[in-house]
Amino acid sequence: MTDFTQYRWYRCHVCHEPCINHVDESRTQDTECADCYAIPALEQAPELGSDDRQVQSAE
Ligand SMILES: [Zn+2]
Repeated sequence: MTDFTQYRWYRCHVCHEPCINHVDESRTQDTECADCYAIPALEQAPELGSDDRQVQSAE
């Protein structure tokens, strides 16, 4: 069973897409969608997140 009380609806502050994610997700706390969260802003520049994009562009 999925406990929807642990999910939060919000609009991504970057692209304004509506999304629903678990409250424990980092992207939920940053109010970003999955797509924008995968492309970190330059000033934030976390060390993770670049591998997925490299895999996609390799095809
Ligand atoms: Zn977004």
